[in-house]
Amino acid sequence: MKWGRGFRLMVLVLLVFSIAWLAFGCTTTKIPGEQALAPQAKPGTIKIYTSFYPLYDFTKKIAGDKAEVINMQPVGVEPHDFEPSPQQVANLYTGRVFIFLGGMIDPWAGKIQDQLKKDGIITLEAGQGLMVNNDPHIWLDPVLATEIARRICTTLVTADGGNKGYYEQNLHDLEQKLADLDGQYRQTLTGLPRKEIVTSHEAFTYLAKRYGLEQITISGLSPQEEPSPQQMARLVTLCRSRSIKYIFFESMASPKLAETLARETGAGTLVLNPIEGLTPEEVKAGEDYFTIMARNLANLKKALE
Ligand SMILES: [Zn+2]
Repeated sequence: MKWGRGFRLMVLVLLVFSIAWLAFGCTTTKIPGEQALAPQAKPGTIKIYTSFYPLYDFTKKIAGDKAEVINMQPVGVEPHDFEPSPQQVANLYTGRVFIFLGGMIDPWAGKIQDQLKKDGIITLEAGQGLMVNNDPHIWLDPVLATEIARRICTTLVTADGGNKGYYEQNLHDLEQKLADLDGQYRQTLTGLPRKEIVTSHEAFTYLAKRYGLEQITISGLSPQEEPSPQQMARLVTLCRSRSIKYIFFESMASPKLAETLARETGAGTLVLNPIEGLTPEEVKAGEDYFTIMARNLANLKKALE
């Protein structure tokens, strides 16, 4: 009888503890304010679209595992040639954020920006105010790339304030990598005897300006602009007179013109990648902005020493 009462008491004590534990357990998940933040704070739920590769790469590096980042430009397609399908444009409305550069690299994006904004999608024109003479290739200058990265981070924080600290830490890491890259370019390219780089399309103006190089281009701001026979003849004369050792070509555009110029002038050819997109091989090899920028630097050194 005595033992029975003790047992009942023990059960009662356990019950009281259990209720207390449940009550405290529940209150910790129901603090006021957390519910208000919940729609933004759920990991992996914000969907971000980017117009082309460098923006995709930077956004992925800042968003980490807190967002789904989708690049609209298909693998292996030049952004200068790319326009999204109506289905891709419709898909944009399922996203929270749309990031594009502005200018002639993604002219279709500027046209749909207002409509997207009206529908509550956060848009970022990442290159606004950074371009000179309508030249969109700002990401090839690590200093301007840093500004692009900062703008992307600010936009992500606006869209998903619950992960502010996480995005800012990732931005900090990215800024550090870009600063290191800038240092490597400065150190390697300063003091080399040659300054002229002969490139396929006019993609390296900002990079050349940053590191004191002179860009000589075969085609214009887009790879489709081909030189006339007279321009080609002038290029041959120029390359010969300056004893150019290497003509640069790109991984995503035809190397035909660069090869012709190299043959005519007795120069070799090397890749200088404008990082406007990745080829399927580059994706498979796990390449990104930094691995390609490092290889570009090695090839620049080879051509200019
Ligand atoms: Zn280009």
